[in-house]
Amino acid sequence: VESVEAPRAGAVLTVDLGAVRANYRQLANMTRGACAAVMKADAYGIGMEQVAPALALEGCKVFFTAHLEEGIRLRQLVPEHCAIYVLHGPPPGTAKECFQYDLTPVLNDPGQLHEWRTVAHKLGRELPAAIQLDTGMSRMGIASTDLAALSRTSDWLQGLRPTLVMSHLACADEPGHPMNDAQRRRFDTLREVLPGVPASLANSSGVFLGPDYHYDLLRPGAALYGINPQPGMPNPLRQAVSLRARVVQVRSVCEGDVVGYGAHHVCAGERRIATVAVGYADGWLRSLSGRGFAFVDGIKVPIVGRVSMDSMGLDVTGIPAERIVPGAEVELMGAHQTVDEVASAAGTIGYEVLTRLGSRFHRRYL
Ligand code: PLP
Repeated sequence: VESVEAPRAGAVLTVDLGAVRANYRQLANMTRGACAAVMKADAYGIGMEQVAPALALEGCKVFFTAHLEEGIRLRQLVPEHCAIYVLHGPPPGTAKECFQYDLTPVLNDPGQLHEWRTVAHKLGRELPAAIQLDTGMSRMGIASTDLAALSRTSDWLQGLRPTLVMSHLACADEPGHPMNDAQRRRFDTLREVLPGVPASLANSSGVFLGPDYHYDLLRPGAALYGINPQPGMPNPLRQAVSLRARVVQVRSVCEGDVVGYGAHHVCAGERRIATVAVGYADGWLRSLSGRGFAFVDGIKVPIVGRVSMDSMGLDVTGIPAERIVPGAEVELMGAHQTVDEVASAAGTIGYEVLTRLGSRFHRRYL
């Protein structure tokens, strides 16, 4: 049994930075263009402070955050020559901070375009910017009608130096979905107003749609962190995260006894129940109640009863009693259970499992 180093009862989250770096290399090797890394939400919950420098060492020169604040934090973590794009663009009134921290905004609508142009005008210099085009997802990016109106005027990009034209795929994790081809074609048509500007379309799943989707810059997030970009197919990437929790208490229960809030789990016979110190406040989703699993030395044990705020019950009847004592470790994610498997038991996606990971874990970076 791998021993955890934390001298306390808490759970230990281990992040394998070697796996993150290997995943980056694998994705970067799939394209003739460049490969960026998406760092939003604290590198999908696994720690931007550790992940970003590791990827910079691996040769990553382009990073994306969602928010300005994330970009400001990231600026302290990667070498100066690295480009940092802020996907949400500059919130109104913050363009100067973008400039100050050398963050390149992704301009998503005519308002952001106008504001960034105004800053460029005031500073008397051209400012770099990415232009995002909405190719059908209706989430972010300049709508085609707005783009048509904007590009009718010859000075719509005055003061701007577009360094990237990008769009985002809605259904890349479903390779056969007609949206993929439709969005790609739309992207090709719309970006004609930005001739010669490097282009980017593919997120993690988009990378696996093939070279037609790669353009000049890949933009993976999830795949770097081990989430399977091709659901239903073998995962070609390495798991980056493992989570081990400790047993707080073990009890024997009789037929008819109930476990947990709501008294929904009724024991069918004599069982041994271990209470483990991880709950929904740690991001261990409540929807795993009665549906998820943990592993003890590779043996699957079910979560019984509702996941509480700080703990949950496991039915460890099949495990030797001397193995499950207070302080003993169980695996929640790792060698025997991937992030995607936890997500599937919880009825969600690996992205949500990772980004919910809580702040109480003792974190180890390998
Ligand atoms: N590009 C944009 C605009 C995004 O919003 C995201 C994340 O949702 C990504 C790239 C990375 O996506 P994924 O994590 O699926 O690789």
